[in-house]
Amino acid sequence: MVNKVSNVGHIPKRTCVICKKKDAKSNLVRFLIKNGIIVFDYKHRMQGRGYYCCQTSNCISKLDKWIKKRKKKFY
Ligand SMILES: [Zn+2]
Repeated sequence: MVNKVSNVGHIPKRTCVICKKKDAKSNLVRFLIKNGIIVFDYKHRMQGRGYYCCQTSNCISKLDKWIKKRKKKFY
C-alpha cells in the first residue's frame, strides 16, 4: 500500500488510548493487538485495527494494564 501525502499542511491527529491526548500521528506509536499481545507497528504498515499511544514511558507502561482490561474483547 502506497501512502502518498498530497494534502501538505494537514497533520493527521490520533488519540492516545491511555491519556486520550490528541497528537500528530508521527508523535504517537501505533500498535496492533494480535492474540491479546501488543505488536508495535513502528513503520505504520501493518494491516488491521491499529491503536495509538504516546511515545512516553508513562503511557507505554500503562498499556499492559489497558490490554488486560480489554483482553476479553480481543479473543
Ligand atoms: Zn498518552
